[in-house]
Amino acid sequence: MTIEAPAPLHAPTHAPPQPLQAPPRPDAYPALSAYLSRSAPVPTPASAPPAPEPVRTPRLTPRTLRTGILTGIGTVCLLWGVQAVPSFRLDSLFAAGAHLSGLLAGYGVLVMLFLMARVPAVEHGVGADRLARWHALGGRYVLSLCAGHGLLALCGYAAHTGADVFSAAVDLLGYAGVLTAVLGTALLGVVGLTSARAVRARLPYETWRALHLLTYLGAALAFAHQLVGPDIAGSPLTLWLWAMLHASVGVLLLWYRGVVPVRQALRHSLRVREVRDEGPGVVSVLVQGIGLDELRAEPGQFFRWRFLHRRLWHTALPFSLSAPVRDDTLRITVKAAGDHTRRLRRLRPGTRVLATGPFGALTAHRRTRRKVLLLAGGVGITPMRALFETLECAPGELTLFYRAGSEAQLVLREELEEIARERRANLHFLLGPSDGAYDPLAPRALRALLPDLAEHDVFLCGPPGMADAATASLRRAGVPEGHIHVELFRF
Ligand SMILES: Cc1cc2nc3c(=O)[nH]c(=O)nc-3n(C[C@H](O)[C@H](O)[C@H](O)COP(=O)(O)OP(=O)(O)OC[C@H]3O[C@@H](n4cnc5c(N)ncnc54)[C@H](O)[C@@H]3O)c2cc1C
Repeated sequence: MTIEAPAPLHAPTHAPPQPLQAPPRPDAYPALSAYLSRSAPVPTPASAPPAPEPVRTPRLTPRTLRTGILTGIGTVCLLWGVQAVPSFRLDSLFAAGAHLSGLLAGYGVLVMLFLMARVPAVEHGVGADRLARWHALGGRYVLSLCAGHGLLALCGYAAHTGADVFSAAVDLLGYAGVLTAVLGTALLGVVGLTSARAVRARLPYETWRALHLLTYLGAALAFAHQLVGPDIAGSPLTLWLWAMLHASVGVLLLWYRGVVPVRQALRHSLRVREVRDEGPGVVSVLVQGIGLDELRAEPGQFFRWRFLHRRLWHTALPFSLSAPVRDDTLRITVKAAGDHTRRLRRLRPGTRVLATGPFGALTAHRRTRRKVLLLAGGVGITPMRALFETLECAPGELTLFYRAGSEAQLVLREELEEIARERRANLHFLLGPSDGAYDPLAPRALRALLPDLAEHDVFLCGPPGMADAATASLRRAGVPEGHIHVELFRF
């Protein structure tokens, strides 16, 4: 079933291209303005400085980051190559393999930490969900390299001394830095094991996260081992470079995961302004603070929210902004998915909030074409709602497809219809069960609604299953991969 907004939907195909236009001012949406001003705002101290002009932040593209990581791998191999002593003796071959895998494992641990350092240029260019996927994939390689390094070193030592494997292992533990390496690898192993899909699904998120903090200890122990190994300690230059690389990543982690959140908390003094029922299991939370323009949050981005409420303070949950930042107010719209999201309904105005961010790369900067299709699945509508209001598009060139199980599950419907009317944008609700006979996301169905679909940039947000199916459909419908920009609501 497709419900269309009552507004004029498609611009005539023969119409000449219209100039891009900025979206109307926020107060052009009377219902939205009324919504935001419904309750008294938390007073802002008169001394608050004026908000600065928004500045475009630097961003690293996924391709640049990938190239950087691969260049690092190449450099590590080169470092190994210039130090390797050519020999075809069995113990030397084992030793060479051990050195290479050890160097690559050490570099890999560093990359894993960097990916999670929350550096804005990386977060805003690559996207938190993609970073998390690369981190998960890279983690498997790093663990394999660690295990390979240990095994090769053991075999090399046994071949060199002629001892059996057990005696060789006991001997090796007596060498400087080997015990720390074993402990570090064991800790990284625990982290890897608890991150395996089957195990992680059984663990509460907070337990998994607490265990994941062992990575830092594991990495520190592995680093101590590398400092006494011949590859790094062999030359003062490599030792200095390796130490500087580790120190830089350590500083980034400390700064962006420690200092910045504290600074943001002190500067912005966020508090819940209002909690609003948006339908079955869905609430919007309006959070007000000071100087929020300084955050430079863009429509499509998300924050990690920690509500200082008795049963919520211990976890920071990711939620996208469901409206652009306005009047020092941030808005999120949340569907009850588990214990924590269910508790948001009970938040009281005035509750303190710690929010870190903004994160996410599903923003206007990804755009490459005039025409834009926003495709939302379920509660994935939240960042799309903010983009629907703000993306600069001529009338008829902006379209929103909103996939939901039924009409009752549509969230923020009135707002979407108002924006569609105001901006003369196209709005289609694609309703029906996901296992129904008719698939509204099938290529033919998508093209029937939007015949020039292939000329659009597509911004897509929804649960992983829906996002995968929709991406495959869009590709079959002729949308090039580079024009499909996806964010998953799962790390
Ligand atoms: C980038 C991003 C943006 C999101 N935006 C929205 C939004 O605008 N509106 C909305 O309703 N939902 C959004 N979500 C989903 C939302 O974060 C989860 O539904 C919520 O965290 C579940 O919390 P819970 O403890 O109630 O549920 P649980 O049943 O405890 O968790 C359900 C699943 O949510 C994930 N999860 C739980 N806690 C966290 C956490 N602290 N950090 C990361 N993932 C966690 C885990 O994968 C878990 O298996 C977003 C998710 C991501 C990744």
